[in-house]
Amino acid sequence: MIVILKHNPNREQLESLINWLKEKDIIIHTSIGEAHTILGLVGDTSKLDIDLIAALDIVEDVKRVQEPYKNANRKFHPEDTVIPVGNTQIGGGTLTIMAGPCSVESEEQVVAIAKAVKASGATMLRGGAFKPRTSPYAFQGLGAKGLEYLKVARQETGLPIVTELMDLSQLPLFKDVDVIQIGARNMQNFDLLKAVGHQDRPVMIKRGMSATYEEWLMSAEYVMSGGNENVILCERGIRTFEHYTRNTLDLAAIPVLRRLTHLPVIIDPSHATGKSWLVDPLAMGAVATGADGLQIEVHNDPAHALCDGPQSLKPEDFDPLAKKLLALHAAVKSLEG
Ligand code: PEP
Ligand code: MN
Repeated sequence: MIVILKHNPNREQLESLINWLKEKDIIIHTSIGEAHTILGLVGDTSKLDIDLIAALDIVEDVKRVQEPYKNANRKFHPEDTVIPVGNTQIGGGTLTIMAGPCSVESEEQVVAIAKAVKASGATMLRGGAFKPRTSPYAFQGLGAKGLEYLKVARQETGLPIVTELMDLSQLPLFKDVDVIQIGARNMQNFDLLKAVGHQDRPVMIKRGMSATYEEWLMSAEYVMSGGNENVILCERGIRTFEHYTRNTLDLAAIPVLRRLTHLPVIIDPSHATGKSWLVDPLAMGAVATGADGLQIEVHNDPAHALCDGPQSLKPEDFDPLAKKLLALHAAVKSLEG
């Protein structure tokens, strides 16, 4: 971090700033120029409040040269994070395919879809039991019963389950869930992030619809700083001026995050586009761009789905896609050597 001081700073104020920084184990390199004095701060500056320093009378400007996230930062953890989940793993060269309905609607529905997606090559089952819906009149999910049905589907197929936690009060029900999903709308629910940071289930954080990479990584930092290192990031489209598609899929997130962080990156082409016919090309694009996996909505009767039917693939359309994705992933890996 670089602190540029105003011309002729008040000595007492400068001394108190320097002492305060030293108390925080920050090493200070001072360079005195004609017009300005510059303090170069070295050490763990992630806990310093940049706005607080910038607001001081003697300070002209403050610039961060290091990212404010530490646990999620690749600089301090060069190796890719690999997260064991059930009989599989996320990251480390595997292609994770999470597939299943937007919402769990009944035991029969989720078990039938789980069996179908497993036969096609899915490695995890997705399904919402607690649903964040824009309208309070829309189907809100089956709640605890939905979680039970997911567990039945896991029992029947062996597929680990990923499902969304919406509120702190639901956390005791999620002890036995394989991956806890934090939805886009809750990406900055900091109390929820802290709570999942204090338990041991892996956590997948979906990108908020207007979140920058840094804000998203700071959400991961909330979970990791609580002690839970098993965090996965899921890009699900951001909100732009375009409304032909439900959102705009940001594929650049894959190489950017690869550079900034060691955490695995999953792409959700279903919520990103809102249209089932766009899921195939964008899922292929995601694998070609180096994603660690996909989250794809699959429904056995999309026309009658209680949520997100228009973006859901039928099992018979998911099947050839899953096979193409696995083949493309193998080809990408062999090209990379
Ligand atoms: C979901 O995956 O069910 C969901 C609601 O996604 P998002 O939080 O990305 O909108
Ligand atoms: Mn959905």
